[in-house]
Amino acid sequence: MTREKYAKLTDEEKRVKVAELRGLTCDCTDPNPELQLNGVVYWCPIHGDHKPCYLSNLNYTAEAEKALDRPILRFRYKRNLQTVLDVWEAPDDIRDFALITATAEQRAEAFVLTMEPA
Ligand SMILES: [Zn+2]
Repeated sequence: MTREKYAKLTDEEKRVKVAELRGLTCDCTDPNPELQLNGVVYWCPIHGDHKPCYLSNLNYTAEAEKALDRPILRFRYKRNLQTVLDVWEAPDDIRDFALITATAEQRAEAFVLTMEPA
């Protein structure tokens, strides 16, 4: 996915995209109404009661980052995060500090760009 396409997604579409790319699958097709809450299957790992907030909670983002389980993915993730942060031209210390203080939203974008290359 390109940055331009990512920017056109809604926050909910971005959140679901991260969930799917980290390997979660939707369970909402269960037709049993007793298992639903307001039309959503409450245990669905993507849409249920405890849906992961990848764009606003760094703990969830850290969980997604565990899917970067190969050196090439971690290398690409760092490069994509540098692009999202616009720190390619910055001195090392400035760039490193930007990387460690990146927000959940910035990390989510870099994660999608990494796991779904354009
Ligand atoms: Zn679902």
